[in-house]
Amino acid sequence: MKKSIKIIALAIFVCFFFSFISQNIVNSKILDKSSSSNRIFSVLDNFENKNPNLKLSINYLNASSSYDYGFKVGKLYRFQLKFLNFITNSNQKNSFKENQIEDEINFMESYCPQFLDEFRGLSDSLNIEIEKLLILQKKIYSLLRGECTATVATGDATKNNETFLTFNLDNRIDSPLKIFYKLFLNRLFSWKCWVIKINTLRYKYALFGMPIIYELAFLNEEGLGWASPGIPFTKNQSRYVDEGPGISTMLIERLVMMTCKNVTEAANVWKNVERANQQDSSWYNQYDGSSEVYCDKEGGILAIEQTHNYIITAFGNSTEITGVREGILWHANHHKWLDPFKTGSVTIEEYPSSGTRDKRAGELLNESYGNITLDVCKQITRDHGGGFDPNGKDSGDICRHFDKTDKIVTAFSWIILPKKLTVYWTHRSPCRSLFWKHDFSKIFGD
Ligand SMILES: [Zn+2]
Repeated sequence: MKKSIKIIALAIFVCFFFSFISQNIVNSKILDKSSSSNRIFSVLDNFENKNPNLKLSINYLNASSSYDYGFKVGKLYRFQLKFLNFITNSNQKNSFKENQIEDEINFMESYCPQFLDEFRGLSDSLNIEIEKLLILQKKIYSLLRGECTATVATGDATKNNETFLTFNLDNRIDSPLKIFYKLFLNRLFSWKCWVIKINTLRYKYALFGMPIIYELAFLNEEGLGWASPGIPFTKNQSRYVDEGPGISTMLIERLVMMTCKNVTEAANVWKNVERANQQDSSWYNQYDGSSEVYCDKEGGILAIEQTHNYIITAFGNSTEITGVREGILWHANHHKWLDPFKTGSVTIEEYPSSGTRDKRAGELLNESYGNITLDVCKQITRDHGGGFDPNGKDSGDICRHFDKTDKIVTAFSWIILPKKLTVYWTHRSPCRSLFWKHDFSKIFGD
């Protein structure tokens, strides 16, 4: 790993960790010295089990406009962003393509000017140029990226005509530093949600992470729920990858949460916007071909595969596309409906874990078809039945653990019940954790 990346990673960790501490997100018990485990996340394990009444920290941010939102975020994170900007932009040797930042600004202006207004507000608040803030945002996203598994089930596939979305967020931890800045940081983030209301946009929405800079919006007040397994692209130089400029995946995800009330509207946004895609990027990075999974309170479910030129939207009844029974969809990290030799997605030969997780998710949904409940969904997220060792925990399981094949683990899981505006959340490995219930109908109503 390059020295500059290490410095940035460490800076991110220090800034956000102390940000959490200062805002009482992490109770002092989190550092309980009675923990005997030598793994950093075991501290969190003990913390959670000793504190059954622990609730999410909910922070509300109301803004009169997108500019006002950016300005307020700048004030809230003044110290952290100034410091990160100093570190990031002191290391100007970056991998961005020529004109990439200028292109991005132009596309934002054309398709979603509210995001540019956010950056104008942030820039004025911090006295940092927009271009530098965009570089900072990209670097943070690229450091925290992961490759995940998602499922959705609805209607007759479920026991009581319910709708469920499961998401296992997985992080690669192939160095001690990555344990800190990927796993530990994402788990800390998962305890703190933001509810954002921007008066000039349609819907209030909830996110975890950090507003604007590292914003993962997972549910809006209309009950639209989200998950997103990443799609790595092939490393085979002889294969074509469908690259092109446009709006970044992360911004499209936010746009959907701000403006859509159901999966039909979400699919239309994805189809009609100019989508950015760039090789050497993966989920969390601004430019990638990330797949998307959505659910809504009307019982709609949707999975999307997309790159710059290609897109396919599969709904619960799109059986001609998916070849599976109505009301269930699932996705790992390879294109299975689009042709990977046109899009550049990895194949399951190149990324076997994606194949084993995809296969196992399908088996579990089919086994319980007609009787899928919340408990079944919990078991799906905790499953070790497939993978490379059917009797053990490994990186090919839906609940991932690192092994010889891959140093990757499931950081946490959530299950969204959009009809109840409720999210069940583990905040660490699902097989070792309780699912905490978070009722967003109350949270959005406040
Ligand atoms: Zn597990």
